[in-house]
Amino acid sequence: MDQAAVPVTLTPKDYKSGLKPVWCPGCGDFAVLNAITKALAFAGLPREEVALISGIGCSSRIAAYTSVYGFHGVHGRALALASGLKAARPDLTVLVAGGDGDGLSIGGNHFIHACRRNMDMTYIIMDNEVYGMTKGQASPTTPMDWDHSKLTPHGPGVRPFKPAALALAAGAPWIARAYSGNPNQMAKLIAEAVAHPGFSFLHVMSQCITFCPEQTDWKAIVDERAEPALSDADEAARLFLHESGFQTGLLYCEQRPTWPPAGAAIVDQDALAGLAASFRV
Ligand code: SF4
Ligand code: MG
Repeated sequence: MDQAAVPVTLTPKDYKSGLKPVWCPGCGDFAVLNAITKALAFAGLPREEVALISGIGCSSRIAAYTSVYGFHGVHGRALALASGLKAARPDLTVLVAGGDGDGLSIGGNHFIHACRRNMDMTYIIMDNEVYGMTKGQASPTTPMDWDHSKLTPHGPGVRPFKPAALALAAGAPWIARAYSGNPNQMAKLIAEAVAHPGFSFLHVMSQCITFCPEQTDWKAIVDERAEPALSDADEAARLFLHESGFQTGLLYCEQRPTWPPAGAAIVDQDALAGLAASFRV
């Protein structure tokens, strides 16, 4: 057999950059990094055919820790960057990752429009219900009565978002949840998300051991879904509005046309090449 035709088998380690993460020991984000690299190895994707785009925050550092193309972007704008990349390079497998503050506060507008646009990409929110990098402010998913921070002495007093319900209402066709304490299930879900043709939203409960040490209690309340994913939006709405938020697995899945439509070129590749050339010195 021609040596050049022999496929190279990559291991999860091959998808790591070698940079040592600066996350606190015990941070749930380590599990997400391991799950992503495991899923990419499982899918057998060449590194040069994958891009991981992130925003700003502890979890958004993840792009630097993989060996695929990466962009550690602007706060809340990871999905906007990823949408532009996918429009220009539809051949790439695009993953997007960030925290609850990045994705649901600063980036909330991009999130809802990415859900309804349904471009073929995977979005992972690493939700620890807090702004970790900036020392423990309440985020859009912080419980109303969370009074563990001097910054919110009586709790934020504001209802938290339900990310899965928000994604469903905005039109996301694939919604799953994982937990940092179960990286094998998470890796399987990421592989499924990548394979799903359309916008796949994975909500990861990823503990912040430093500012929310009580989140170690999550392991007692996560509940792996035994039933198949829902495909009826009414049933999914009832689930997402009334659940505890700790059910893991593929929760909702429907097939609907992606954007842009197959075969439609929304980027003038000649103009793009000209633009790229103008940046070369
Ligand atoms: Fe992880 Fe929290 Fe430490 Fe940030 S502050 S690295 S989210 S444990
Ligand atoms: Mg956070």
